[in-house]
Amino acid sequence: MEKDYQRVWEECLSFIKDNLAGKENEKVFSTWFEPIVPVKLDGTTLIIQVPSQFFFEWLEQNYAELLKNAIRLTLGPNACLQYSIVMDTSISESPITTRIPSTGRPTTLNRPKEVPMNLNRDESREFPNPFVIPGIQKVRINSQLSSSYTLHNYVEGECNRLARAAGYAVAENPGKTAFNPLMLHGGVGLGKTHLANAIGLKTKELHPEKIVLYVTSEQFMQQYQDAGRNGTTSDFVHFYEMVDVLIVDDIQFWANKATRTQEAFFHIFNTLHQAGKQLIITSDKAPSELQGLETRLTSRLKWGLAAELQAPDVETRMKILKQKLQNDGVEMPEEVIEYIAYNINTNVRELEGALISLMAQSSLNRRDITLDLARQMVDKFVKSTNREVTIDYIQKVVCDYFNIPIDSIQSRTRKREIVQARQLTMYFAKKMTKSSLAIIGLQCGNKDHATVLHACKTVANLAETDKQFRYWIDELEKRFKE
Ligand code: ADP
Ligand code: MG
Repeated sequence: MEKDYQRVWEECLSFIKDNLAGKENEKVFSTWFEPIVPVKLDGTTLIIQVPSQFFFEWLEQNYAELLKNAIRLTLGPNACLQYSIVMDTSISESPITTRIPSTGRPTTLNRPKEVPMNLNRDESREFPNPFVIPGIQKVRINSQLSSSYTLHNYVEGECNRLARAAGYAVAENPGKTAFNPLMLHGGVGLGKTHLANAIGLKTKELHPEKIVLYVTSEQFMQQYQDAGRNGTTSDFVHFYEMVDVLIVDDIQFWANKATRTQEAFFHIFNTLHQAGKQLIITSDKAPSELQGLETRLTSRLKWGLAAELQAPDVETRMKILKQKLQNDGVEMPEEVIEYIAYNINTNVRELEGALISLMAQSSLNRRDITLDLARQMVDKFVKSTNREVTIDYIQKVVCDYFNIPIDSIQSRTRKREIVQARQLTMYFAKKMTKSSLAIIGLQCGNKDHATVLHACKTVANLAETDKQFRYWIDELEKRFKE
């Protein structure tokens, strides 16, 4: 029997409801899924109507996988989802339709940031495989730069002044400054990719003849491994050695793996550097703190300038928000902008996320953007990102990380690794919960408050003096944020 579209959507919804992760799922469900209206079933294509472009983008960014699974489960492996977006009637009379295949990545239509720029527009042909280099033809390399991450829209603040200025200098004189390599490091969402990309664009603008290439370290690794399999390693190396400005993003990805990739990169690095070519590298840590990478490589990374990107202060956050609004042509009361800037202080990505979510809420419910709406939204946003943690949860994360049984924290053992895990648990419990020292002690092996205090001090000291310990703390901190 053929299913009708409403039944199909109901089945999808029930799958989605069951599979939404996290505490906030009811709100997520009512905000993002309940407003969707199924409109038609066309073979194995279900057409759903969403209230706005924002809404569609939000779904696509956050729930594409979930929707894909739901629709496939209900309609089979070839199922498609097609969105119909209701436009503001003052702008357009009929709904526009965007088709998204349920397989593979969505179309680039709404993902301008991922559309690679073709900088040598005069040539029409593109190499399917970048390692196939014809002998005489002028080489055309897709820079893989995103046209939207420019220096112009990279807001300057105390947090990025050095990195930005160094980036500008590099773009003016690639390979000719002391900033080679230029190493941009900082936490997630602080603008490393944006800035690295922007330097690439600026270089192309000032020196159109230079070959600029942006790659993620993951892509580089993949290409290297493919080349190995296909027997084209020397093509791979030659290809990279032709580049004038090489940008490698998120080099920490190679830590504790990809030894041979690191080796290959090391040689390419040397060749380029000796030839006066520019290298720009990003990573979540400073070169000296990058664990798990080959030391001869990290020592190279220290040759040039390591510039840190820090979390923006509130003024910069305001500027970033205002610029985003201006780009999107959206107006928002000053007090609302202030409210968001003051309350979302983790990183720029979350700041943008909050703004998009607020705009989506307002267009979805056809409500004005008011301080009240911002409050509700930020509440939800901050809660869902800074999930409250319990001491139990901290114990679990720490024990999982060190691969020790969770009850060992409670035991009386003085084994070094257990003692360390216990001290780290106490330290994080003090830092991340409102529990008193006495309560923390009680839950961590029945210790007294002085022991907890001592543990916190010990960890804090070791964090300063012991690199291994610092690394553990950073890694654990990341896990708590997941
Ligand atoms: P990272 O690579 O460090 O994780 P991204 O470069 O991806 O961070 O930045 C996250 C988001 O924040 C991007 O959308 C980026 O455009 C934006 N962003 C970061 N820093 C700035 C800034 N100084 N001005 C404007 N936008 C910024
Ligand atoms: Mg990045």
